[in-house]
Amino acid sequence: MERSTIVRVHEGLHARPATRFVKLAKGFESDVELVKDGKAVSAKSSVKLMLLAVKENQEVTVRANGADAIEAIEALIGYLENPRAGLDDENEPGEAGSETAAAAPAPEAAPPAAEIPKLQGVAASEGVAIGPAFAHFPPEIEGPGRRLQADEIEGELERFRGAVASVQARMDRTLAENNLSAGDRGIIAALRDIAADDSLTGEVERLIKGGDDAVSAVIAAAATIAADFSAVDDHYLNARADDVHAVGRQICLVLLGQDELSLETIPQGAILIADDIGAWDLARAPLKRIGGVVCGHGGATSHIAIIARSHGIPAVLGLGDKVNELRTAREVAIDGNAGHVIVDPDQATRADFTRRVEAAAQERAGLKVFKSVTPTRADGTVIEVAANIGSLEEIEAAQEAGAMGVGLFRTELLFMRHMHLPSEDMQAETYSALAKAFAPHSVIVRTLDIGGDKPIAGIEFPDEENPFLGWRGIRMCLDRPDIFKRQLRALLRAAVHGNIKVMLPMVSEIAEVTRTRALVAECAAELKAEGVPHADFDLGVMIETPAAVLIAPALAKEVAFFSIGTNDLTQYIMAADRLNPTVAKLNDVTNPAVMSAIELTAKAGVGAGIMVGMCGEAAGRPDLIPAFINMGLTELSMSAASIQRAKKTIAAMTTER
Ligand code: PEP
Ligand code: MG
Repeated sequence: MERSTIVRVHEGLHARPATRFVKLAKGFESDVELVKDGKAVSAKSSVKLMLLAVKENQEVTVRANGADAIEAIEALIGYLENPRAGLDDENEPGEAGSETAAAAPAPEAAPPAAEIPKLQGVAASEGVAIGPAFAHFPPEIEGPGRRLQADEIEGELERFRGAVASVQARMDRTLAENNLSAGDRGIIAALRDIAADDSLTGEVERLIKGGDDAVSAVIAAAATIAADFSAVDDHYLNARADDVHAVGRQICLVLLGQDELSLETIPQGAILIADDIGAWDLARAPLKRIGGVVCGHGGATSHIAIIARSHGIPAVLGLGDKVNELRTAREVAIDGNAGHVIVDPDQATRADFTRRVEAAAQERAGLKVFKSVTPTRADGTVIEVAANIGSLEEIEAAQEAGAMGVGLFRTELLFMRHMHLPSEDMQAETYSALAKAFAPHSVIVRTLDIGGDKPIAGIEFPDEENPFLGWRGIRMCLDRPDIFKRQLRALLRAAVHGNIKVMLPMVSEIAEVTRTRALVAECAAELKAEGVPHADFDLGVMIETPAAVLIAPALAKEVAFFSIGTNDLTQYIMAADRLNPTVAKLNDVTNPAVMSAIELTAKAGVGAGIMVGMCGEAAGRPDLIPAFINMGLTELSMSAASIQRAKKTIAAMTTER
């Protein structure tokens, strides 16, 4: 017996409505299937249902076979035809009172957002805001472009060194005196490092010795180094270009005897609009008064974004030249989730945003209770909701959000930030600080994941046609034991201070694990002989290549855990470059091919009794989390901003059963 209908469930059968639909179906004895485009899946499996990807307004058929088939079809069709079924109200379908609850929020008079002209930027810090525009466009600094006489060079070098010293001293004073959060302090310390770094000062001095005036030399050197960061195929490292510009600007201002335009006068709730704001300036600004940030420069991983996120300020960055359209704006509305900016909104948009700001404040307040929640599966297994971080300055935001440890510490920044290979001591210090900060939770440190697409000083990379298929991650590390052993020794030393786990990126064969184990043993023996305290750590692998998925059952016998890297796994499974917007549609983790790869991995890991986690972007998606938990994943690692919502999603799964 079967009946077809058009799905009216708001936004289709995504996670929550799918779970409810399954619950409803399970209430009947009959076998029930849902059919879409000729494909039938059991209506009693939420994973299968979600993978069927039933969207709003699509035609589906409910098929039932059994004693209560008529009733089952009746109830399930009724659910599919209810537009409110997909909405996140607390009432279960069919419960008395659900209609009243659904009717409560009066439909908004505002036109759909799509009709409002808006500027599109990078969604860098979530949340919505509306407020008076505060345009902050300090004039560009231009070098005089003066050629120095030979006898002026020594004096100009002195002037430059004095300016660097003065910028560093000012940063030191800020670090010592101001009421900075630990996160902001870390960012300023990183900027001070750049100011002191030989690559910048050395290049400037070389240009001055060649006859350039100091200001022109700083601008040129900063541009060269920033361009190196921008050329890298890694958004974390791209974001450091803005830091180099910011430091260069500070040095130039001292050389010119000028002060930066102040942010002190920003009114309460205003939206700060700028082409670029140095993290240095933003960290010292009256952040409590800033309602939102819009910038021409920057991206989701720039320091401005990190500061904005850690202070809960919505931000849209990377608008490019379009930011100039905001110079004369009076009022601005921003949507930090979608990356939208609306200039001088009309009344309906204003009402819409005001309502969303209030709703978001309520949601935030509601989510806070999940900070200290330890989410569990229905069988009581704890689901670790951990943080992805790339630097020590992100620790505070992760802890504030309620992170149960770190599921991915990307070590690339450590190697890039200082523009030379970091020493074993420096690495040990960093990993130890992380281990201590999150003990007794685990901190999963990923070994260096760098390749021809992300050149770093100290490693010579060959020219490659396809760097993403080339000498990167574990492949490069195993060929450069000098670099790899330094990192492994640092990790063994840090393991004394907490629960350090180590994972290998880009693994595609078992030999990569066994060879790493041999190196770890070698390092441990050396440390022992040297009398250096150290401890063993769990070794795991990222599952991010199709090869790793296909050998997962064998791989699972060799390692302590899997962590699924959906960002790379999606691009390699779909053969669709994750950085190429032309194939962005294919680069979709919900594609059945990718979801099947995840399921295969989970099955292999769970079957072997090892922990299976996920650290790709998909781990923080509330619409997918139920599917991942149902597959057997027990650890999800994500950006701090997603943690409380993820905990809520998991908690809701247990109560909905
Ligand atoms: C991934 O590939 O999913 C991942 C987490 O690593 P990255 O984004 O650093 O490549
Ligand atoms: Mg990856």
